[in-house]
Amino acid sequence: MVIVMSPKATQSDIDKVVERVKKNGLKVHLSTGEECTIVGVIGDKKKIASLEMNMMEGVEKTLRVTEKYKLVSRNFQAEDTVVDVGGEKIGGKHFAVMAGPCAVENIEQLREAAFAVKKAGARFLRGGAFKPRTSPYDFQGLAEEGLKLLRSVADEAGLKVVTEIVNHDDIDLIGKYADVFQVGARNMQNFELLKALGKADKPVMLKRGLSATISEWLNAAEYVMSGGNNNVILCERGIRTYETFTRNTLDLSAVAAVKELSHLPIVVDPSHGTGRWQMVRPMARASVAAGADGLIIEVHPHPEVALSDGDQSLTPKNFEILMAEVSEFAKFMGKEL
Ligand code: PEP
Ligand code: MN
Repeated sequence: MVIVMSPKATQSDIDKVVERVKKNGLKVHLSTGEECTIVGVIGDKKKIASLEMNMMEGVEKTLRVTEKYKLVSRNFQAEDTVVDVGGEKIGGKHFAVMAGPCAVENIEQLREAAFAVKKAGARFLRGGAFKPRTSPYDFQGLAEEGLKLLRSVADEAGLKVVTEIVNHDDIDLIGKYADVFQVGARNMQNFELLKALGKADKPVMLKRGLSATISEWLNAAEYVMSGGNNNVILCERGIRTYETFTRNTLDLSAVAAVKELSHLPIVVDPSHGTGRWQMVRPMARASVAAGADGLIIEVHPHPEVALSDGDQSLTPKNFEILMAEVSEFAKFMGKEL
């Protein structure tokens, strides 16, 4: 249930409402907006059903929330969430670009990629140190060695680090080096991992599962938020369809859907979303136009020799062109790069 307080409600009205909800053994999620305060009620369905709040002083109306996810819902918080990653913001008017190689391969490759993406205007360095590969014979990542390289190169270039976590036992290890935990498509419903990240003190970027509905994806985000971690960024990275020309089908309608259903920021990954470097620029432009809060793009100094995802990686030169286009589109959408 959501209790919408009247714009005229006093602090004491709000306190009394909160107190009554808590007395009934239910939890409260308070969202204080510019217009009004929203009191989200979480807990046992039967208890919520018997809660009578409409007559209380300062209450404008109550709404039943039918979706299973609550904390991620726009009904619970009208304002956009802005995730602050050590001073770099994503959400609201803050547009963020994350870029770098699919996998960390060696220091030369990473440095070249990092300095190029920084120069072009990216604020985050991406790169996998633990790679969930389709084949066990493919390059699996440099593990801790890769994390160390990411941290030192990102610090040198002045970037934040986004990197994938595949195992909940690695939270402390990855948290030592990364600024944002990336949950990959294959782990979107790894609930033990999501629960563990709910207790982490760093933001989580949750990629949409290969065949996940928007509702399943938002419920996965609810796992993280219900653990106490409110800093969740969603990432649309394409879904599995019957089409084979592209690696995945980038579902940009999910951006508009998420904007309607949730207050969480959403970034788009046109690299995995298409699997073809030629399509990354047009889809990046379309993502901004659809209302995305950011982009995550694979950039490799030499895509032809990349150990993973070379076909979808941009050269530094093409990334620079993309950034020039994206910054114009972002401006048009009222966002700052
Ligand atoms: C990646 O970002 O390199 C990656 C493996 O992405 P996804 O989980 O979307 O496939
Ligand atoms: Mn990749």
